[in-house]
Amino acid sequence: MKRTMCVLLLLCLAHNSYCWGFYAHRKINELAIFLLPPEMMVLYKPNSAFISQHAVDPDKRRYILPAEGPRHYIDIDYYGTWPYEALPRNWDSAVKKYSQDTLLKYGIVPWWIQINMHRLTQAFREKDQARILKLSADLGHYIGDAHVPLHVSSNHNGQHTGQHGIHGFWESRIPELFAEKEWNLWIGKASYIEQPANFIWSRILESAAAADTVLRIEQALNNEFPTDQKFAFEDRNGIITRQYSAAYSRHYDQRLNKMVERRMRQSIFAVASCWYTAWVNAGQPDLRRLSNRQYTKADEKEFETLNLQWKSSAPPARSCD
Ligand SMILES: [Zn+2]
Repeated sequence: MKRTMCVLLLLCLAHNSYCWGFYAHRKINELAIFLLPPEMMVLYKPNSAFISQHAVDPDKRRYILPAEGPRHYIDIDYYGTWPYEALPRNWDSAVKKYSQDTLLKYGIVPWWIQINMHRLTQAFREKDQARILKLSADLGHYIGDAHVPLHVSSNHNGQHTGQHGIHGFWESRIPELFAEKEWNLWIGKASYIEQPANFIWSRILESAAAADTVLRIEQALNNEFPTDQKFAFEDRNGIITRQYSAAYSRHYDQRLNKMVERRMRQSIFAVASCWYTAWVNAGQPDLRRLSNRQYTKADEKEFETLNLQWKSSAPPARSCD
């Protein structure tokens, strides 16, 4: 009995992963900083640890704030077939057609990115350093999520096709194994985005188009791969956990033909370009002369609460495991 409980616990731990994985979200925000012009680098570079560490706050918020969940995904296939023209891209028109409840039920990530970009532009206008950094970290997270194909599919964890765990496999396990040593995540420069809404929707549609491939290729590999070699037990921070094996992961990554690396690169470019666009639209304020440079006691308390609640809470109803 004791042994069974122990194995169950290990299996639960193995599946406890997060959107893009904590590793990839932090990396995306960290590397996006290097695409910025020097006028922005003066603020972002010295604060890179904050922007990288707080890249995962939105996922932690999901554990304590029910409204947070739908901000990370959109089950776009609910609205028909690609390119989902039935779904108005404008929020008010979409609410009119489907109701706000429906939109919230199936996820709102494309609109939530736009709201955060607007807030960041406002923070730049107000030269409010604490808000600029906080909103930059948050925005980076939501943009990253929008690039993950399974964040744009109702079959988000392969639950309709017997592929439970594929969500974390694609966005956590694969980057953790290969990004650092094998991928090229250095990209040129951020670009000004003329039409942010169009840009975000086109990235959403790319993710939607790739979701089927993510699932189909894993299904085929699963059918061919020796069952006893699909998973492996590995030591992860002192805890033995059940993971997709390195060999299985490598085969999957190769068959995806660099898709995960490509989406991570595009995430980095998109995050930097959205930060840059917000700064330009705010009139390119001098980031060496900002106010509100320190976080207030209330902000610090909020960060601490977020961490404590996240560590002690059960996963939210729709976690990305
Ligand atoms: Zn997320």
